[in-house]
Amino acid sequence: MIDTHTHIDTRGMEDLELMALTLDCVITLAHDPFEMKTLDVWITHIEKVFNEIKRGKKIGLNVYIGVGIHPRAIPPDVDKALEYIKNFVKEDRVVAIGEIGLEKGDKREKETFIKQLELANNLGYPAIVHTPRSNKEEITKLILEEINTIDTNIPIVIDHCNKNTVKEVLDNNFYAGLTVQPGKLTHIEAVEIIKEYKDFSDKILLNSDTSSNFSDVLAVPRTVLKLKLNNIEKEVIDKVSYLNAINLFKLK
Ligand SMILES: [Zn+2]
Repeated sequence: MIDTHTHIDTRGMEDLELMALTLDCVITLAHDPFEMKTLDVWITHIEKVFNEIKRGKKIGLNVYIGVGIHPRAIPPDVDKALEYIKNFVKEDRVVAIGEIGLEKGDKREKETFIKQLELANNLGYPAIVHTPRSNKEEITKLILEEINTIDTNIPIVIDHCNKNTVKEVLDNNFYAGLTVQPGKLTHIEAVEIIKEYKDFSDKILLNSDTSSNFSDVLAVPRTVLKLKLNNIEKEVIDKVSYLNAINLFKLK
């Protein structure tokens, strides 16, 4: 099983060990632990995300990385940050640009989002896109519109989908991330979405978004258990909890 969206830099070793007990690997992404008052604060954050590879290794957790600028943590000099991203992706174990996206959808967020999508496209990396808790439907629409303004041929995951946004995301041929976390989806809501959109099971990914917010570090294995209890076909479960992530992020 693979957890495709985490922030394990916010958690203690005991949580990493729980994940190691049940997961083949996790992807941990850049996020918003601080206000990025200077570019150096953002760089230090990305370095800390890389450090999770080492921490994971200590406890037996296989860690992959996403680098990027979170919409709630945009540093002053975005263009310089993009130059850093170009170098960061050369490091081992970087599998995505993320998480990027929109929170409120203002001009600065949009510019930063589009620049990162273009960069991801030029570098040939998949993008992991955040959608916010508030105004989710409206901002998801805006995100899809923004993506359509540019030409991309990379896989794009629209993450934290709910039952109101997942259809449009899948209809537009994007990957849909289902985040099982208090305030986002319950395990059962994720099961219901997977049941309803079984025909799109090649395009659905499960994750916990484990962060300093209330989280279930076992969200993926627990949802897999609920999928089994609800008699979802093994083939579908394998795709949403493992195979899709392996193929999309080219994990080994
Ligand atoms: Zn996140």
